[in-house]
Order: sequence, then structure tokens, then C-alpha cells
Amino acid sequence: AKTGNRGEYSFYTRDMAVDIRERVRLLQALRHAIERQRLFLVYQPQLELGSGKVCGIEALLRWRTEDGQLIPPDRFIPIAEHSGMIVKIGDWVMRMACFQQAELARHGFGQLRVGINVSVIQLRHPRFLSSLSMALSDSGADPGFVELEVTESVAMEEADFISRMLDQIKALGVRIALDDFGTGFSSLSYLQRLNIDRLKIDRAFINDICSQDRARRIPELVIQLGQKLGFSVIAEGVELQEQVDALKSMGCDEAQGYFYARPMEVPMLIEWLSARKA
Ligand code: C2E
Ligand code: CA
Ligand code: CA
Ligand code: CA
Repeated sequence: AKTGNRGEYSFYTRDMAVDIRERVRLLQALRHAIERQRLFLVYQPQLELGSGKVCGIEALLRWRTEDGQLIPPDRFIPIAEHSGMIVKIGDWVMRMACFQQAELARHGFGQLRVGINVSVIQLRHPRFLSSLSMALSDSGADPGFVELEVTESVAMEEADFISRMLDQIKALGVRIALDDFGTGFSSLSYLQRLNIDRLKIDRAFINDICSQDRARRIPELVIQLGQKLGFSVIAEGVELQEQVDALKSMGCDEAQGYFYARPMEVPMLIEWLSARKA
């Protein structure tokens, strides 16, 4: 973009300046949001495809500004990662999710795994493991029902470090899912080596799953690959009955998406779960 005439060049840099100012503004607002407890978690159910049973929930971060505006995580998490603030936010998310897992257990829903998204910046932080184990012990959450979601692309960088880190997380009794699976290009030998419990197929593949042509073979292959390597497989972003049917026929283990439920705050989640139980 810098190769254009001078007008173009200055337009481009002015644009970038606006972008940087916007990021700084957002970062400051985010700092206040943490202090003023404007962050909260919503939970989306995960269902076993065979039985229709709810077996887990994924914690998703939300930020409501003072004027009631909801800022999506895709907008503020990259900025939080870039600034390092994700460490503080991520710790808060882990603690909150563990406490809410324990709360759900008190309501009779202790058998639900809670999935927590974890950024690689958090994993690299020297106090990550102690933060995690403190969140577990302070909340009384059952580690066997806590699952960290790490993205496939993250798992590929720093292969040795990440695989050792996952071993240590597993040693605490916590489960691990590889998120957005199929979008990276992990080598099979590396995948085999990772101490993970399951794969989450990226939403992009679920979109293609109903087509009759070759597009359908990719998600089919991804499911088979995961299962051959010994992982259970969950599909995310399921919106249609036809997708559910296709995933069932492909032998996928679990699914999550708007077809079943949108992410909900805990009180609504408890209502939703109770209604299904009755
Ligand atoms: P993700 O981990 O891949 O989460 C799945 C996203 O898909 C969520 O978006 C969820 O609301 C959305 N989704 C679920 N079902 C459907 C569906 O049927 N159709 C469609 N179109 N979308 C569906 P959300 O909540 O906006 O989160 C976006 C991303 O932000 C997440 O992607 C994750 O990468 C990140 N994120 C969210 N919460 C956290 C967090 O606590 N920590 C970190 N590090 N990242 C988070
Ligand atoms: Ca996720
Ligand atoms: Ca995902
Ligand atoms: Ca994603």
C-alpha cells in the first residue's frame, strides 16, 4: 500500500493511526471493564449425538460496556493478547468457570464438563499452572470436568514446549481439547504425540457438510482422522437438522451450536438444563 502516489500513502498512514488510537481506547476501556466487573461468561451446551444427552458446556467471554453495548470477544481478545492483558483476563475466566462448574454441581449438574478457552500467551506465562490449580482448589471444581480448549494453530508453534505443558495440565487431572481443528496443518506424528482428549472440528467444515459433492469428504475425513488417532470428536457451529444428520452418519461423537442452544448466562442455563431433564 505504500507504493501508491503520495495521497494514497498519507491516506493509508492516517488510517493506521486511527486504528492504533482505536486499539488504545479499547484497551483502556477493557482495563476499566476488568476493574468494574463488566466481563462475564456465557455457556453453550454440548450434546452427545447418539443419545442427545447434554455432556458439556463451553464458557465464552462477554464484555458489556457501561452503556449496555456488547463487545464480541473476536474484537477485544486479540488486543488483550497483544498487550499481555489476556493473562489477567484468562486467569479470571479460569477461576469464574471453575466456580460456576462447582455452582452447577450444587444444582445437580456436576456431570457437565466445562470447556475453557485458553490463549497461548497464557500457557507461556510461568504462573499458568499454579493459577489453574489454585482456581481448581479454591472453587472445589472437579478437575475431571474441566477441559481447556487450545487452538490447533497454537499447538503447532513451539511443539516441544506445548506438548510438555499439556502433559503438566493433564497431570492435574484436567482435560484438553484441540480447538478449531482442521484449519491448521498439524503433522500426524505431532498430533499423535499431544496429550489431548478430543478434537473440536472447526465451524468452517460444518458449513460444507450437507453438500453432496467432494466438500463433504473433508469433514468426514477429519472426523475419521481424529477417531483413528484415539480422540473423541465434537463439531461446533451446528445450526441445521441436516448437519446433525450428516454428523451422525459420519460417526461424530458430540455437537454444539445454535441448533441446540445459544450461549447463556448461568441462571438461564440452569433453567434450560432443568427443562430438558424434566
Ligand atoms: P471459539 O472458541 O471457536 O468459539 C466458538 C464461537 O462460535 C463462539 O463465538 C460461539 O458463540 C460461536 N457459535 C456457537 N455456535 C454457533 C453456531 O451455531 N453458528 C455460529 N455462526 N456461531 C456459533 P464467540 O463467543 O463470539 O467467541 C469467538 C471466539 O473468541 C472464540 O472462538 C474464542 O476463540 C474466543 N474466546 C471466547 N471466549 C474466550 C475466552 O474466555 N478466552 C479466550 N482466550 N478466548 C475466548
Ligand atoms: Ca473454543
Ligand atoms: Ca472453535
Ligand atoms: Ca475460533
